[in-house]
Amino acid sequence: MTPLAGRHAFITGANRGIGAAIARQLAAAGADVTLCVRTRASADAVAGELRARGRRVHVVQADVTDRAALTAACTEAAQVQGPIDLLVNNAGVVETVPFLRSDAGVFDRMLAIHLHAPVVATQAVLPAMLERGRGDVVNIASIAGLAGTAYVAAYVAAKHAMVGLTRALAAEFGPKGIRVNAVCPGYTDTDLVGDSVGRIIAKTGRSRAEAMEMILRDAGQARLVTVDEVAAATLAFVLPEATQNGAALPLLGTPR
Ligand code: NDP
Repeated sequence: MTPLAGRHAFITGANRGIGAAIARQLAAAGADVTLCVRTRASADAVAGELRARGRRVHVVQADVTDRAALTAACTEAAQVQGPIDLLVNNAGVVETVPFLRSDAGVFDRMLAIHLHAPVVATQAVLPAMLERGRGDVVNIASIAGLAGTAYVAAYVAAKHAMVGLTRALAAEFGPKGIRVNAVCPGYTDTDLVGDSVGRIIAKTGRSRAEAMEMILRDAGQARLVTVDEVAAATLAFVLPEATQNGAALPLLGTPR
């Protein structure tokens, strides 16, 4: 019942939303967990919950766009809880801007968090994984990493880069025992979607229900994806018997 017992999982953006759900499911499967968060106090609730279940939990602090801080967080986590077996690159933000008003700063910020941060974290943990001949990296990309959406060109481009990175690393390191996969959710029930819906309401005067219906219809989703579905997909990639490598799994909120 605890197939990940003895494994150390490092999850960015683990204090809320998808990252917290992933921390809960990996811990429920037996993993010891490092919660990588921007402010330590923001992880108190999740850390307390996982410790109450008997898991070892460590909290590290890093803005993932600060390369030195993210590398130091990976090093600290390994010193405290042992080598990292499972890396989940989850921290992310979306900036909604029409393309002609998207300056270089928008593209830089989207690439910093969705491409450069996963590169930095993966480079920090891979050497120890290679020494042991096993390890998992799961990138929380997006359906925006597989298809286009209007008004989020920088986010779409950065998430496509994340999926490209996933596939390249799977090809390079799969033969050495390292699996690298991506989960590509559609709109998922977190603050991030709440913020997008809020912007539509402010701009169009639609009700919350109308705004939600609009984004789901445009995305071809029957409903929001749940954080538990994203976490379950992540867990499925890292189970000892899993065989996928280089996968980019779409999750689209099909009817229940
Ligand atoms: P939330 O807004 O609920 O959470 C975002 C998380 O990322 C928070 O923990 C936040 O920390 C952290 N974060 C943001 N910027 C940084 C930073 N610079 N350094 C460290 N941590 C940071 O979003 P979701 O849970 O929805 O998103 C998680 C991932 O899932 C993202 O990569 C997103 O692109 C992706 N995704 C989300 C979808 C959705 O519809 N919700 C759909 C497809 C993909 P803090 O609390 O400090 O702000």
